[in-house]
Amino acid sequence: MIKKIEHLGIAVESIEKSISVFEKLLGKEMYKTEIVASESVKTAFIALGESKIELLEATNPSSSIAKFLSKNREGFHHLALEVEDIEFEIARLGKEGFVLIHETPKEGADNKKIAFLHPKSTNGILVELCEELN
Ligand code: ZN
Repeated sequence: MIKKIEHLGIAVESIEKSISVFEKLLGKEMYKTEIVASESVKTAFIALGESKIELLEATNPSSSIAKFLSKNREGFHHLALEVEDIEFEIARLGKEGFVLIHETPKEGADNKKIAFLHPKSTNGILVELCEELN
């Protein structure tokens, strides 16, 4: 079961520069920054109701965020959906014909198991599935 929009991922050149924009926009402060070494990204989260905004900055040139920003402006990067059982959803969506970037979940930011779907099968939107780790 897909429960809700967990967060929207926004690619930025610099979290340090962008965080004040989002804090002013939303009237809220970020509650966490975290480096995800496996993804070569630094992240910052701002909670907004049941969902969050995740800012993503590349920590090195091989990061997927660095590659994204070499082709696109800063801005919307991915839609993250919270799921109850990520292995179940990966199997279900694979059978439905969606192109899986990760066929097994990996460890993501903010204490989650994550897997991505390729935008070529989701109308151009990079989709992240995430399941909260207890
Ligand atoms: Zn994310």
